[in-house]
Amino acid sequence: MSIIKEDHKLTNESIEAHLCVIGGGVTGLSIALTYAQNNPDKKVVVLESGFEKPGPSQQAAIADIIGNDVYDLAATRIRAFGGTQWVWGGNSRLFDRLDFQKRDWMENSGWPIEYDDYLKYVTPACKLMNIDDFDWSNIHPKLNYRKLIDSEIFENCHYKLSPQIVSSHPVDFGHFGQSHREALEKTKNLTIYLDQTVINLEFSNLKSRLKTIQTRTLDNRLNYFTANQFVVATGAIENGRLMKYWFSKETAPNLPCYDSIGRYFMEHPHRDIGHMYTSKAQIKSLKHYVGVRLGTAVHMARFKVTDEAQRKYKLNGQTVVLSRQSKKEDPKVVLGQSYKAIVLSEQEPIRENKVELLNELDIYGIPKMELHWKMTDHDYRSINFIAKEFPKFVAVNDLGRARGYQRAPGRNTLGGHHHMGTTRMGASPNNAVVDGNCKVFGLDNMYMAGGSVFSTSGSVNPTLNMVILGQRLVNHLNGLGG
Ligand SMILES: Cc1cc2nc3c(=O)[nH]c(=O)nc-3n(C[C@H](O)[C@H](O)[C@H](O)COP(=O)(O)OP(=O)(O)OC[C@H]3O[C@@H](n4cnc5c(N)ncnc54)[C@H](O)[C@@H]3O)c2cc1C
Repeated sequence: MSIIKEDHKLTNESIEAHLCVIGGGVTGLSIALTYAQNNPDKKVVVLESGFEKPGPSQQAAIADIIGNDVYDLAATRIRAFGGTQWVWGGNSRLFDRLDFQKRDWMENSGWPIEYDDYLKYVTPACKLMNIDDFDWSNIHPKLNYRKLIDSEIFENCHYKLSPQIVSSHPVDFGHFGQSHREALEKTKNLTIYLDQTVINLEFSNLKSRLKTIQTRTLDNRLNYFTANQFVVATGAIENGRLMKYWFSKETAPNLPCYDSIGRYFMEHPHRDIGHMYTSKAQIKSLKHYVGVRLGTAVHMARFKVTDEAQRKYKLNGQTVVLSRQSKKEDPKVVLGQSYKAIVLSEQEPIRENKVELLNELDIYGIPKMELHWKMTDHDYRSINFIAKEFPKFVAVNDLGRARGYQRAPGRNTLGGHHHMGTTRMGASPNNAVVDGNCKVFGLDNMYMAGGSVFSTSGSVNPTLNMVILGQRLVNHLNGLGG
């Protein structure tokens, strides 16, 4: 491999490849690396908008949120080799089986693919993310979790931290591009081009086959990349934005999924649902909920809402995380420890949560966007139910004393920086953009990858699951031959 950097001054070049991957974050890089290793006779290119480190291309990530205006979208979508892993936290867990099922209490829920099919790609994805795949069961024997008194509502679940974190700490591996640098360098049929922002698409005469894409550099040089297959992995919101820009009613009047493009955006609303106070004696039994190092990996427990409770009380998937408060954050606690209890919730996928293009253009000439994001009454009801139940659960299990907070809609909900949906996977183009193979409905050779294809999100952190689905896509592309 070579990384063609910004100083190469590629100008008006026409480059051909078998597979062209757009976006050099963990999703795009993991797909490109595995496909290139599996198919050494096929040329693979990755086109990344940013530079080796976050820099001026970040301006193109600026956008407003209409509705839940809780964070700066540019700070949460990094434009550089390695993508948003420059700032992520590494928390990782698999989807649960129920997350894949149609739930009659949640509009548009369910995936068009089988959970067992998804499970086939867990081991290779964990390897790519430098996560031990030794056991994902709810109670890991080596960790000796606090045994909980049977609760209908909560159970322990196990999270792992990927060491692909960018920091100065010696045990951290850096983002995917850094931790796999050697493998990327050794893969001769793979080339990564930096400062190549994909702007336009050109189709074959058949209209259903994407032929060539045009890129623009920050200093306005244009280049052209022709390929047999294309994978778009520019992050969930950006995948929706680019699709909306590329396919207007005028340019693609017959694209069956046209009306679904950019829709069904989902986040993991995080909400502070209460405070928990523990005595000195109770602190020890809670250490696994804050994180324990085992070899190079960090493991932690969280409280997950059981499948039984989700069914019985018609709830979204939710997980409660304990965040230890410092004496400065909670000066009232002199002895013992105070924790903030934060719920990470699934969101109902609704059409109205969407990307909209604006008239103004960004630095690459692509229309700027705004994100429309709100929570439904069902989403609020679900979180408030858990906020009410959590203190009872803490008391029964002698974990400490807890106080829960009920909130009115719109109050005190934070985002999780988890972007999902906008080109979702589904059985029909009426409510989805890609089919079960991540292929855009109505096009023969264009695939979407990353959180944008999530049909429903569960309450688990998304990135490991993006890589799992990426490995499933590689398996499909391998089978296409030619
Ligand atoms: C503060 C924070 C904490 C987080 N913590 C966690 C966590 O603990 N666990 C977890 O699972 N997830 C976490 N996430 C989410 C996680 O970072 C993302 O899910 C993940 O990085 C997405 O990877 P991706 O490759 O799909 O997209 P990205 O990493 O966003 O990569 C997309 C790439 O596409 C490039 N690109 C964009 N447009 C174009 C274009 N037109 N042409 C060419 N290239 C383009 C971009 O420059 C970028 O490099 C966190 C996110 C944030 C912001």
